Amino acid sequence: MKVLVPVKRVLDYNVKPRVKADGTGVDLANVKMSMNPFDEIAVEEAIRLKEGKNGGGVTEIVVVSIGEQKAQETIRTALAMGADRGILVTSDEKVEPLGVAKILAKIVEEEQPSLVILGKQAIDDDNNQTGQMLAGLLGWGQGTFASKVELAADSVTVTREVDGGLETDRFTLPAIVTTDLRLNEPRYASLPNIMKAKSKPLATKTAADYGVDVTPRIKTLKVVEPAKRSAGVKVADVDELVMKLQAMGIAK
Ligand code: AMP
Repeated sequence: MKVLVPVKRVLDYNVKPRVKADGTGVDLANVKMSMNPFDEIAVEEAIRLKEGKNGGGVTEIVVVSIGEQKAQETIRTALAMGADRGILVTSDEKVEPLGVAKILAKIVEEEQPSLVILGKQAIDDDNNQTGQMLAGLLGWGQGTFASKVELAADSVTVTREVDGGLETDRFTLPAIVTTDLRLNEPRYASLPNIMKAKSKPLATKTAADYGVDVTPRIKTLKVVEPAKRSAGVKVADVDELVMKLQAMGIAK
């Protein structure tokens, strides 16, 4: 059984984003980029399934990244964690979720995976759209926001964190799963595995190779930083605090 894992290169989650002076977007010049954290969880889950979780059955993990040439570093990270093979799809234009989903649908047609595990959202644009769109394009079932995944020969059972509890759904394979934070804790790649990953196969394609038009459909009008918090006030004691809250009409 083959598992496909799409991984996106994004601004590292530890980096404080700076908005470009002209307000057209976030400044990505000379900042640390990493694999989207939810995609690390997706790669980890695929590896655990290949390592024998739920009795094994997964024989190959293919990772895909769509973006600039440097996204191959993200693929190499996934290969160092334990994925088998990578596909890099380069594009000079930023590819929106619909374009990503269309390219992934073509790759699914070629690769015939039983399961696609994506992150629930990319932390750069917070779209939370790609997995759902891919499921729509393929007509497959989708278990989104997975906090537990159990794979059987012809189905996948997904536990999802919903308001007020846990929902468990079973999907017939092939299916789409998107990962939530609590699904697992991704491993770090060891140095020997980082070295080994350099010789794992990585195919490079373009969006045009798949016949997908990635012309943007969204025009970002403006990006602004969040409003700065105004300075706080120090109070000497609880009485002063209560007096101030009363003056503001917050306490009686
Ligand atoms: P989004 O819908 O943009 O929030 O992304 C959801 C998930 O789709 C991500 O966690 C990735 O698994 C996948 N994805 C989105 N964009 C890309 C991309 N450019 N390359 C590979 N995977 C992507």
